[in-house]
Amino acid sequence: MMNLLGKRVVVLGFARSGYSVAKLLAKSGARVLVSERKSPEQLKKSVVELQNMGVEFEFGGHSRQIFDADFVVVSPGVSLRDGILNELANSSIPIYSEIEIASWFNRGKIIGITGSNGKSTTSTLTHRIIVDAKRKGYLAGNIGIPFSEIAAQTKEDDIVVLELSSFQLERIASFAPYVSVILNLSPDHLDRYDSVETYYFAKLRIWENQDERDLACIRMDDPILTGYIERCKAKILGFARRYFGIHGVYAYDGWINIVGDDGKEERLIEIQSLGLIGPHNEWNVAASVAATLPLDIERDSICNTLMNFKGIEHRLEFVRELEGVLFYNDSKSTNPDSLDWALQTFTGSIILIAGGLDKGTDFSFLRNRISEKVKLAILIGKAKEKLRNEWIGATEIIIANSLPDAVELAFENSSPGDIVLLSPGCASFDMFDNFEHRGRVFKELVNKLKSKYEKRT
Ligand code: ADP
Repeated sequence: MMNLLGKRVVVLGFARSGYSVAKLLAKSGARVLVSERKSPEQLKKSVVELQNMGVEFEFGGHSRQIFDADFVVVSPGVSLRDGILNELANSSIPIYSEIEIASWFNRGKIIGITGSNGKSTTSTLTHRIIVDAKRKGYLAGNIGIPFSEIAAQTKEDDIVVLELSSFQLERIASFAPYVSVILNLSPDHLDRYDSVETYYFAKLRIWENQDERDLACIRMDDPILTGYIERCKAKILGFARRYFGIHGVYAYDGWINIVGDDGKEERLIEIQSLGLIGPHNEWNVAASVAATLPLDIERDSICNTLMNFKGIEHRLEFVRELEGVLFYNDSKSTNPDSLDWALQTFTGSIILIAGGLDKGTDFSFLRNRISEKVKLAILIGKAKEKLRNEWIGATEIIIANSLPDAVELAFENSSPGDIVLLSPGCASFDMFDNFEHRGRVFKELVNKLKSKYEKRT
């Protein structure tokens, strides 16, 4: 690891990972300046704590001080596309992500999980498999705690499950996970990348520093992803929703199967016994099992976890049943692909609440799915007109002014057996703080709904 004593480091962005990495660097003797575009609403406790460690701050914008650095750490939420930050990105100053820095301090074994969809579910499940088997495991990165918060305390036998976004991966240098998982590649974040390939290349960097002693879990039935497979130098473990002829974990015949190098098949668990629902979760389960194979965890323990793990909040989360109508919160659906998978999960007729802040992606490919599955689409947010134009004629469409109106309209138009599904396919920032906020508001609204019968009497 680089000797950090006296090094000048600029940390761009002061959210959770910015705080943790600034602290980690300051503790190692670096001279840290935190530069944050937003103004400090009040001098937060964490600012004072870091100031006491010698960290300097600038709020309300980035000054030219950010060029006075041996290297820069950029938070995942900070885009380097415009203005002074773009100038910085084009300068010769190295720019690293927070996970790169944290990895310098890490001694544990890293299972790094990325992909366009399913990262949080798969990371959480993988971590659960490890801790349920009484092994020491951390869940960090995009979900759980920032990697910088725990990296320095990890020991050799610890397993660190890291959820990794493209923004963290695009600024690595030496970061090398022991096991990498790429769940899938589909278009997203076109507001931050010049092209879809640039976004894919950022994710593929998870393989960059792996060698043949490491493992790469690769979704074999994703043609976009396998198109890049020759870039991977690690030993490949496949996973897919059918068998693919190489060592791996595959969902078929109603089972999750582990298939050896010799083609020998072991039935692990029936798909209908899984706690997670929906075809997309078969990949997530297969990926989690594949990622933990090198840890030699007892099969019974894995199966127990797979039966008991019902998913995480805001991902196809069941909210309640009212008069035979089932309500699901899938607020984490922030791109068209995850909306597609949410629609494929259900067999009943769906009243869909979609829309929000669009990230420049195309929704028209969903027309067939919408006409097959959705009896009514209620559209909200900035993307509502765009979605209406792309889906017009595929199903009945109502434009709503707000999420409360959308929930009311959904229930009014429902009949027993219907599924009311919030799966926006868009970011939340036009109307909410984040997707968690959107999901919580939805659940509150749904839980407050009164029976139609009560209303009438
Ligand atoms: P991420 O952390 O990558 O955003 P999540 O696990 O939070 O992924 O899931 C986000 C949404 O993506 C879910 O609501 C679900 O509808 C969809 N999804 C989950 N897993 C997959 C998958 N393997 N392939 C496609 N879509 C998925």
